[in-house]
Amino acid sequence: MIKVAINGYGTIGKRVADAVAAQKDMRVIGVSKTRPNAEAFVAKQRGYPLFIADISKKTAFEKAGLAVAGSVEDMCRAADIVVDATPGDVGATNKPLYEKLGIRAIWQGGEDHEVAGFSFNSSCNYKEAIGRKFTRVVSCNTTGLVRIINTIDHEYGVEHVHAIMVRRGSDPGEIKKGPIDAVVLDPVSVPSHHGPDVQTVLPHISITTMAMIVPTTMMHMHAVKITTKREVSREKVVDLINHHPRMGLIKKSLGIKSTAELKEFAMDIGRPRSDLIENCIFEESIYTNRNEISFFQAIHQEADVVVENVDAIRAMMGTEKDADRSVRMTNEALGFVTIQNNH
Ligand code: NAD
Repeated sequence: MIKVAINGYGTIGKRVADAVAAQKDMRVIGVSKTRPNAEAFVAKQRGYPLFIADISKKTAFEKAGLAVAGSVEDMCRAADIVVDATPGDVGATNKPLYEKLGIRAIWQGGEDHEVAGFSFNSSCNYKEAIGRKFTRVVSCNTTGLVRIINTIDHEYGVEHVHAIMVRRGSDPGEIKKGPIDAVVLDPVSVPSHHGPDVQTVLPHISITTMAMIVPTTMMHMHAVKITTKREVSREKVVDLINHHPRMGLIKKSLGIKSTAELKEFAMDIGRPRSDLIENCIFEESIYTNRNEISFFQAIHQEADVVVENVDAIRAMMGTEKDADRSVRMTNEALGFVTIQNNH
């Protein structure tokens, strides 16, 4: 049983905790919070021991009816590996603690590649993560990009990728962020950080990315054009997507044209937290012309990286050396079937 600590029980941390708890070979040793809020009560309801970053706040937690199991350091000492899901840039400040304790650690996409020196995606470089001390699971957008780029690269060879990201302004629970009424170029200059981030996982891929932020909380939308080395077949591309364990095809028959309808569908089919773990690629948008393929894919920012954390744990602990088997174990434990198999 791999003992996992989750440092930072927020949007990503609470999902990773549930995904870890569902695995037969893993156990949640504890989760951490900075203050007694609604998520802390969710942790209590789920039965996860609650640890706190600042132990001087113990009384405040206890007054609110939340038992405190100890400090973040106590939690890390009891674990084999820690998933750091604290806010971007906070994670890096925890590195000295993990180093001092000699514990394995996984950071999220809000940290720089350099914090771990290795960036992970289970479909692309699982084997390279085996036995590693430190790993970074790339961001939601990068996860969505590398899954499909790597798949196309294996089949046809990628000459160049051009991707435009229309990004959600905030997560649904973030009440203080915007934009409220604007399209914000993020950044104005080209490329956005996503292209170089893809190269932390797939260094040989030539890619240009552009990004903008819009007033929605639902999902990101990518418009992607890939130029390939060999001629592409649309039929084959659809087949590759259909057979990838974490890529979904939004079939024309569903009549879905938006992230709003997609999230509604996820709720209706009973996905926990209406999460869409898979790249949601719109079947009708897949267009091929000789050495070019274009498509739209929607990426659920809160969900796609969660399963990648679970696979990273297995690879780093060295308990499963085969990527496909780990992905299958993770998916099956969650009862996850890709969206095209739900209808
Ligand atoms: P969040 O703000 O929702 O959650 C962070 C949690 O960490 C909160 O519960 C907060 O109380 C806690 N925290 C803050 N400081 C802490 C500290 N010093 N010690 C322990 N806990 C602390 O953030 P999030 O959206 O879950 O993001 C976490 C990481 O995941 C970031 O690197 C982010 O870039 C990355 N990520 C986020 C998303 C997304 O859409 N939310 C998607 C992919 C990756």
